[in-house]
Amino acid sequence: MGLAGSGKGTQGEMLAVKLGYSYFSTGHFLRSYMTEERKAEMLKGKLLQDKEIIEIIEAYFSKLKDKNKTILDGFPRTVSQAETLMSYQPKWKTKIEGLIFLDVPEDELINRLIKRARPDDTKPAIKKRFHEYIKQTAPVLEFFENMGIKIHKIKGDQPVEAVQRDIIVSINNSKQP
Ligand code: AMP
Repeated sequence: MGLAGSGKGTQGEMLAVKLGYSYFSTGHFLRSYMTEERKAEMLKGKLLQDKEIIEIIEAYFSKLKDKNKTILDGFPRTVSQAETLMSYQPKWKTKIEGLIFLDVPEDELINRLIKRARPDDTKPAIKKRFHEYIKQTAPVLEFFENMGIKIHKIKGDQPVEAVQRDIIVSINNSKQP
């Protein structure tokens, strides 16, 4: 988890390679397969409907082989999505290992997004995504904390390799007896 530009995609992909996990990003998936109408909503920085996202995740899990571990990027993004993920664990045969939160100050995020220049990195869409994050996604952290899920809070405004190292250290520390 983390605000737009916090490095979720970069760190998630690196971590997946390092740990031998699969990697699945709802944002990547939506950008590749969505209808033009949905893409227009994404371009404005709006979150898509929970139902639609749950269907995508369900389809992903149903294709996973037994014991295939995955780094989920961009899901869950609302408390309702998080509740579904928790309550569907028996149905989806999943177990949540932990949550990585990349913590980056807002002014650094804006610098990064302006440099990245993805189609939804316009000023109004960035503002909207920050707003959606604060209103809808930030409460997800508290939700998981209350459920006893391990949260790895990582200082994200560091060079890519340093962030990755801190993630690995935090994961390893949490595994120690
Ligand atoms: P991302 O690549 O993770 O920054 O996602 C880009 C856009 O995809 C977001 O701004 C949303 O419009 C949409 N999106 C991705 N994941 C979700 C999700 N879990 N729930 C709702 N919308 C999502």
